[in-house]
Amino acid sequence: MAQDTPVTQHFIRQIVQADRASGKHGGQVVTRFPPEPNGYLHLGHAKSICLNFGLAAEFAGRCHLRFDDTNPAREDPEYVQAIQDDVRWLGFNWDTLRHASDYFAVFYLGAEKLIRLGLAYVDDLDAEQMRAYRGTLTEPGRNSPFRERGSEESLDLFRRMRAGEFADGSRTLRAKIDMSAGNINLRDPAIYRIRKVTHQNTGDVWPIYPMYDYAHCVSDAVEGITHSLCTLEFEDHRPLYDWFLRQLDLPGDPALTAPLREKGLWLPPGTPQQIEFARGNISYTVMSKRKLLALVQDKLVDGWDDPRMPTLSGLRRRGYTPAAIRMFWERIGISKQNSLIDLGVLEGCAREDLDVRAPRRMAVLDPLKLVIGNLPDSHAERLAFANHPKDAAQGTRSVPFARDLWIERDDFMEAPVKGFHRLVPGGEVRLRGVGIVRCVDVVRRGDGAIAEVRCMLDPETRHGMAGAERKVKGTIHWVSARDAVTAEVRLYDRLFNVPDPDDETGGLTYRDHLNPHSRRVVTGYIEPAAAGLAAEDRCQFERLGYFVADRHDHAHGRPVFNRVVTLRDSWAKPAAS
Ligand code: ATP
Ligand code: MG
Repeated sequence: MAQDTPVTQHFIRQIVQADRASGKHGGQVVTRFPPEPNGYLHLGHAKSICLNFGLAAEFAGRCHLRFDDTNPAREDPEYVQAIQDDVRWLGFNWDTLRHASDYFAVFYLGAEKLIRLGLAYVDDLDAEQMRAYRGTLTEPGRNSPFRERGSEESLDLFRRMRAGEFADGSRTLRAKIDMSAGNINLRDPAIYRIRKVTHQNTGDVWPIYPMYDYAHCVSDAVEGITHSLCTLEFEDHRPLYDWFLRQLDLPGDPALTAPLREKGLWLPPGTPQQIEFARGNISYTVMSKRKLLALVQDKLVDGWDDPRMPTLSGLRRRGYTPAAIRMFWERIGISKQNSLIDLGVLEGCAREDLDVRAPRRMAVLDPLKLVIGNLPDSHAERLAFANHPKDAAQGTRSVPFARDLWIERDDFMEAPVKGFHRLVPGGEVRLRGVGIVRCVDVVRRGDGAIAEVRCMLDPETRHGMAGAERKVKGTIHWVSARDAVTAEVRLYDRLFNVPDPDDETGGLTYRDHLNPHSRRVVTGYIEPAAAGLAAEDRCQFERLGYFVADRHDHAHGRPVFNRVVTLRDSWAKPAAS
């Protein structure tokens, strides 16, 4: 279990600590992460995962992974698998894996119980009529003409709904609570609707499906969940959550959970408490699954794991480490205050984590030839480079050095601007790990473009020589042209070019804010040791940023790297590539 970041105090942790101290829930902590398998997990889900699995681990409790699959039309086994992969990748493991559909028989028995208690009825109003009867925030609702139908009649109709006798939407099972309640969620909410759709888990067994508010609290109860953590928009649903559980009394009614005993899925039922916290929202991205799905379907990105996506599989492919994502949510904390978190904070966590762990390598992405005039064409040398400037345990590697090198085109300026401290005609620069060179000539092609720069290497500045410590203003990186390996390098930037692409004022939508420059693919030259990295290995290309060998496309002899993040925040200042 991931336990690398210091634990910070927050109000949910305080509640859990107080409950343990008072012996509530038998002193236990049982949480769950309940995704709907209708898309891939995104960064917002990671907040909930870190919170739920983190609390369970800290207090020696359990955390369940539960697929909330009560909405069959939008769900898919592909998502069920991807969600498990992503949770594990993030560093967590569930104690128990369940589907809400495992409890369909319990939901059904619970509904019959509510009908028998006179607390639920079958309504023949259609969706539109029900809406009209519901009232508004300022006006109470009206009772349905079917509200006073007797229990026997409702029970018969409900059984026939379950038998598939009626058309979709023609009847609904509703809780009988209070049509004039100030809280609209209590105005006789729907419990079951007719929906003749094949379910990814139960096939065509059920023509009726329970509503979220009913299924969720019952699922929590039958799993013995103690603390049911959800986002703030469910605050107004809490009275309903508690109402269902009070009326059903699952711990006190073994008949309701009998189907689980038969299936070997029984756990001691409990009375969970719902606690709400603020959703995590992050700037320069969207995190609704509906919008992410549209980006995928409309091919605005290359799939759910496109490295620009805020999905966990996208972040993974981009090269983010699970530790950086956990560190990010730990740092943001848990509160009841909704806010938009700066994407730069996440990027900062990636830099911080990768700075410590990523070995250094050299790569040139926009090559200009540099020829050292005072070395023979045949010069071949191997230099020992530390893999990491602050971590000797990462060892050294051998970097080939020769007469002809690649340097970055923008490390040379023929007519330098003020403050330019790299290579200029007649000027000196340090070649990283080699010594100081002076530019003595600029060679042009027929069309006038610069073909190469010629330099002289000062032998007195080489390693171990008297002038090795001589100071010059700039140091640049390089790759031996003869030894370089050609690589495809994908330079990613933010997917959206405004902080809040969800903001639809002015008639624009998130699609209007897509950053047209969010991906640039270049051919670069990398040192041989970088080409030897395995897929998903990360490194820092010195001065260029942190990179990862692409999970899918990188292969021996055909390196493909994705830039995770630049070394500095280029959005805070005018962009530098
Ligand atoms: P979306 O709107 O993206 O579909 P959702 O809340 O409908 O999100 P679910 O699959 O139902 O997605 O969510 C599973 C769990 O993850 C829920 O408990 C939900 O509260 C939590 N969750 C989803 N998004 C966020 C977020 N942005 N911040 C914190 N928790 C989140
Ligand atoms: Mg949802």
